[in-house]
Amino acid sequence: MLSFILNFPYTVIGLVVGLVSGVKGMRFTKDPYAFIINVKNFWWVFGYMKGARAMTIGHVVLLGPKLEDKDLEHELIHVEQYQRMPLIQPVLYYIEQMRRGYRNNKYEDEAYRRAGNVYKG
Ligand SMILES: [Zn+2]
Repeated sequence: MLSFILNFPYTVIGLVVGLVSGVKGMRFTKDPYAFIINVKNFWWVFGYMKGARAMTIGHVVLLGPKLEDKDLEHELIHVEQYQRMPLIQPVLYYIEQMRRGYRNNKYEDEAYRRAGNVYKG
């Protein structure tokens, strides 16, 4: 719960990004605490995120139209990472991203390994 509060600024950003992406449906889970929002599309993405099927910002999981099997499980692991390292998680992620790129960074590696979903570029 404390981590949920510390991550609140990111969660607000996640909700705004969800709105911008077009909300089709929304629900809340408690394990972990997360808003799960189905969105119309990620029309605004650029760079390495192009082609993203889903994303996590704070305790908000955004699911796009090209969602595949186990993508939700993958994103909920990112929510767990936010819970483990509240407030600084996006910074840690960004540092890993700079060092190892997207697929090999340890946060993505954990999420793909535990969820069992597949990266398709
Ligand atoms: Zn991921």
